[in-house]
Amino acid sequence: MRILVVEDERKVASFIKRGLEEERYIVETASDGEEGLRLAMENEFDALVLDVMLPKLDGYSIVKALREEGRSTPILMLTARGTMEDRVQGLDLGADDYLAKPFHFEELAARLRSILRRSSTDKTTRLQVGDLELDLVTHFAYREGKEIELTTKEYALLEYLLRNRGRILSRSMIMQHVWKHNFDPESNIIDVYIKRLRQKIERPDQPQIILSIRGVGYRVKEE
Ligand code: CA
Repeated sequence: MRILVVEDERKVASFIKRGLEEERYIVETASDGEEGLRLAMENEFDALVLDVMLPKLDGYSIVKALREEGRSTPILMLTARGTMEDRVQGLDLGADDYLAKPFHFEELAARLRSILRRSSTDKTTRLQVGDLELDLVTHFAYREGKEIELTTKEYALLEYLLRNRGRILSRSMIMQHVWKHNFDPESNIIDVYIKRLRQKIERPDQPQIILSIRGVGYRVKEE
């Protein structure tokens, strides 16, 4: 899942980013309100973590602008003092939850899971191919009901492949989505990761899940 963190305090932003990446989210950050709003409008994030006090455009204005545009992306607001007026204002404008600073990372992660779960009544929270299952909220992968241990990147790669089941994904699409930089044709990093992923999720006596498309990239077959 992709999360946008809009926070101008660099230390706090990197603390949140690091924590969320450890929990296998794909995280982008913005350090002022205008950039945050632009990124949120241009991309499909699964949730926003939004500070209230921001340069250029405050968090309330961002929530208001997004909701007026009909964007229902779940939003967790970070309020500075957590006064009642602050909380009420954010929630009234359409934020889904708030957290008062300072906070423990565990609480932020729990609140985020909770708003993701609530928002996903019409979206899927599990992806399944045969007996391989991915829980999109907790970020665990299972085969035949048994957990598979995946690293953050392996998980992000597998989620991207499964979300686009049936589509051929080129190496450069995979690079941009999972690694967030441009594809270097000299590098074999994607193939190395695919190989490791196959060793973890596939069984020698069963059909392959990830198919190689020669000269292009990879595809997960449709059921
Ligand atoms: Ca701030």
